[in-house]
Amino acid sequence: MDDRMEKLISLCKRRGFVFPSSEPYGGVGGFYDFGPLGVELRNNIKRAWWRRVVQEREDMMGLESSLIMHPKVWEASGHIAHFSDPLIDCRRCKFRFRADEVPMVPGTPPACPQCKSEDLTDARPFQMMFKTFVGPAEDTASTAFLRPETAQGMFVDFPVLQSIARKKLPFGVAQIGKAFRNEITPGQLLFRLREFEQMEIEYFVRPDDAPRAFEEWLAFMRDWLRVCGIAEERVVFHEIPDGERAFYSSRTVDIEYQYPFGQKELYGLANRGSYDLERHAAISKQDFTYYDQEANARFLPHVIEPTFGLDRTVLVVLLEAYHEIEGGRTTTTESNKEVEVVLKLPKEFAPYKVAVLPLSKKEPLMQEARRITQELRKRWMVAYDDVASIGRRYRRQDEIGTPYCVTVDFASVEDHCVTVRDRDSMQQERIPIAELSAYCGSRLPV
Ligand code: ATP
Repeated sequence: MDDRMEKLISLCKRRGFVFPSSEPYGGVGGFYDFGPLGVELRNNIKRAWWRRVVQEREDMMGLESSLIMHPKVWEASGHIAHFSDPLIDCRRCKFRFRADEVPMVPGTPPACPQCKSEDLTDARPFQMMFKTFVGPAEDTASTAFLRPETAQGMFVDFPVLQSIARKKLPFGVAQIGKAFRNEITPGQLLFRLREFEQMEIEYFVRPDDAPRAFEEWLAFMRDWLRVCGIAEERVVFHEIPDGERAFYSSRTVDIEYQYPFGQKELYGLANRGSYDLERHAAISKQDFTYYDQEANARFLPHVIEPTFGLDRTVLVVLLEAYHEIEGGRTTTTESNKEVEVVLKLPKEFAPYKVAVLPLSKKEPLMQEARRITQELRKRWMVAYDDVASIGRRYRRQDEIGTPYCVTVDFASVEDHCVTVRDRDSMQQERIPIAELSAYCGSRLPV
């Protein structure tokens, strides 16, 4: 493995993107806190996704369902019976790991990945849903689960949603929200968490329309990867062969990414048939059918499910954006000595869109810089920095991906102009202050 993950982890912590939760207490594996820049980045990704998935489409609607649902939901979905990973314990060092983490070499017994001991327990299923209790009694009757995926809310609400929306098939529901899984081995920063966020779609179609809708969403996912600035050559569309898919799925594509620690899942797309609606109809004894007015017939729609992990998106977006320039991009002696980091984030995702940097702390220059900052803040997240040399301040902004830096100098007070520097080209342009907002607005996505 190269050292990109270590560098990213260090940048994320140093600049306040993301860091372990409960640090003064030693942290809790698989839980992270998002700092000021991380919150902005996540919100920008969610907004960009929601705009393309819900806002710009006639056939989609949004939903926010509860994190704790009726326990029967998880019985119907199969999670209570099947949502488990095979777990092995090492009797010598007590290390606990997933059975698929030990390489199986024919002819040799499996060994502990930590201490290499062969004294291991058999693999046994480990339920990955977090349990809790609803109400004051802590007994079986009040046991509930934190949802391990957002999808079930969209299936369970299908009857009410179809009557509210009064839409004809095909139509879909989108949801962004937290999911919880008691993963055996969380790790690799945001790759495998115990508390994470999903952006999921359930797209309801006529059975004969499912292959077309599948292709449409596959194309959408390709486009979304482009929006995220993810290089095509590091993405693999893995068509899951017959026999390896869930039994109800007639087609599944795993969208995998070549992380520094190996090729693993980023997103998934599945044709789930009518399995979920059938199960909820059977267990709840309610009607989950769709009424087709033209044909005067009722049937269970089929479902195409594109699913996007938000945290894996954040991780991959950061990995793709991270660029190091040995010796720096400028020729000043100070920066020559350093490795310069530029986070080439898509502008739409950048936490700060603009930074205002006054060249001096003297008045009336400072006052003018403050006024410009407040004006721009009506439209965007704007950083203000008056500490250290201008070169250092540019590099601080490059490192967090700010697309535009505005320097306010002594001439600004006289000629009412500022200099705007572009993060990627480092080109500088002198702009009248009165036109600054329109200048940035024409270069930044809505
Ligand atoms: P994996 O095989 O990596 O455990 P999965 O197949 O169980 O993933 P799904 O159940 O399909 O994942 O979940 C949908 C999406 O949610 C995944 O594509 C991924 O982006 C995200 N996701 C799943 N588990 C985690 C996790 N523990 N931490 C962060 N994101 C996750």
